[in-house]
Amino acid sequence: MKTYDLIIIGGGRAANLANKVAKLGKKVALIEKSSLGGTCANRGCVPSKLLISYADVIRNIEESSRHYIKSNIEKIDKEKIFKENNDFIKKVDEKYMSKLNENVDLYRGLGFFLSNKIIEVNNQKLTASKIIIATGTSPKEVPYKNAWTSDDIFPLKKIPKSIFIVGSGFIACELANALDALGIKIKLLVRNDKLLSNEDEDISKVFKEEFSKKIDIAFNTSIKDAKYENESFNIVLENKNKEISNHTCEALLYAIGRESNAKDLELENTSIQIDDRGFIKRDKFFETNAEDVYVVGDAAGEYMLQHTAAYEMNYLYKLLYEEEKKALKFKYIPHAVFTDPEIASVGMTEREAKEKGINYVVSKTDWLASAKAQGTKLEYPFTKLIINRDNYEIIACHMIGPQSSTMIHQVLTVMHIDNDVRHLKEMLYIHPAISESLLPASINAIKKIESFNEKN
Ligand SMILES: Cc1cc2nc3c(=O)[nH]c(=O)nc-3n(C[C@H](O)[C@H](O)[C@H](O)COP(=O)(O)OP(=O)(O)OC[C@H]3O[C@@H](n4cnc5c(N)ncnc54)[C@H](O)[C@@H]3O)c2cc1C
Repeated sequence: MKTYDLIIIGGGRAANLANKVAKLGKKVALIEKSSLGGTCANRGCVPSKLLISYADVIRNIEESSRHYIKSNIEKIDKEKIFKENNDFIKKVDEKYMSKLNENVDLYRGLGFFLSNKIIEVNNQKLTASKIIIATGTSPKEVPYKNAWTSDDIFPLKKIPKSIFIVGSGFIACELANALDALGIKIKLLVRNDKLLSNEDEDISKVFKEEFSKKIDIAFNTSIKDAKYENESFNIVLENKNKEISNHTCEALLYAIGRESNAKDLELENTSIQIDDRGFIKRDKFFETNAEDVYVVGDAAGEYMLQHTAAYEMNYLYKLLYEEEKKALKFKYIPHAVFTDPEIASVGMTEREAKEKGINYVVSKTDWLASAKAQGTKLEYPFTKLIINRDNYEIIACHMIGPQSSTMIHQVLTVMHIDNDVRHLKEMLYIHPAISESLLPASINAIKKIESFNEKN
């Protein structure tokens, strides 16, 4: 049996953690069953956003008539675009390998527990004083043979002419938008009448209106049957009125959520427990029910974002190898949806604020105070601030409009420092940058609080 200072199961974001610990002179075993870099770099955030960047250019050209510019896209070279994406994915593992510290032993295979302290991989037994589980998630199983998940897009073997996409969350919407813009015929199938239902209601309402103008969406519709014959699917759809319709498409993609990879870890050999969704339980110091065995990132099933996974892993390093004694408590967790329209958000939805009984004011302000925003000739973009009436704290910020994912960082900075919306009113903005639209948004919120305080 080989003995290490640390064993990490899962070489996604945790490959960086392995290097960091190895730099301390510790011997680390990193176990990865597939490509280093994990979901984000190989089949998630990065390749999807590279495709989305093409989609953004295409949408700008398609919509140039708003700016009195007549344009025509002669050709979208999908072969080149997907080849570039596939080539990028091919190189991810190599890039991670080249950065692997000499104190890291990489085991290419499925790791699983024989006991709280012993891991098996490729018929070898390993043990360590500390073990970290960073095994992430996988797409939920598809109900029909030959149907795809997002893993089948990254890398894409053959470009289909048409794809039916099932789902209404961020992965379904991002892929629908990107693939549609690239010229693939898309139909998005949504079980109910909502898109991005986890977003604040005002945001998802506007998103639905705008997104439906671009994408062919069948709401309240589900698949009754799907058969793959002669390289295409025959699909039977049923809507809420029980009406049946028949369709064909070359590919059927399910983006209906992700599930824990814990099932492969043989946790029954340990005292590690899972919750009712199958995710590994942990305490506030990331420790599982087995002593010195930790779980971080998507494997814990809490936030399912790359930036939170990375943050947690850096924090676990501080807890284990530096003097950090406090548990990590995220002050705020932002996210973005890279669709057209783009969305960015931090904090609770208004419904959640209401349910929690918080005293809040809402400032919903369009971006048109900024000339640069006016120049986009889009009327829908707005920012919704939800502010605590008792102390000016930013409870939430929801944005919809171009570059929201960049703009929201200004709000995040304020939240990070001392979280008082008044900073957004007092700071100096570059005129007339789109960010300037946060000035009236914050002024509106502050006015509402002051007028409430005057009356009460
Ligand atoms: C299409 C898509 C788009 C996304 N876009 C974004 C985005 O824009 N922004 C964002 O923040 N997040 C995004 N995400 C989510 C993001 O990819 C994850 O939150 C992130 O990858 C989590 O990192 P992780 O290291 O915890 O898990 P992972 O990256 O999933 O890594 C886990 C690794 O463990 C390996 N593994 C699992 N079990 C075993 C085992 N038993 N033995 C050995 N190896 C094992 C896996 O092969 C994998 O490499 C996206 C996800 C998808 C699918």
